[in-house]
Amino acid sequence: MNADLTAMVLLDCPYCGEPVELLIEGDVMGEMVRDCEVCCNP
Ligand SMILES: [Zn+2]
Repeated sequence: MNADLTAMVLLDCPYCGEPVELLIEGDVMGEMVRDCEVCCNP
């Protein structure tokens, strides 16, 4: 099975406080954190 389970969530970046859209993949729910596009922190 290759279910395309992805979800976009809007979180506040802990570094710069800006709301950042994160793409969460179903296989790694809660683990996949993308770089903040505002301040480029991980
Ligand atoms: Zn940031």
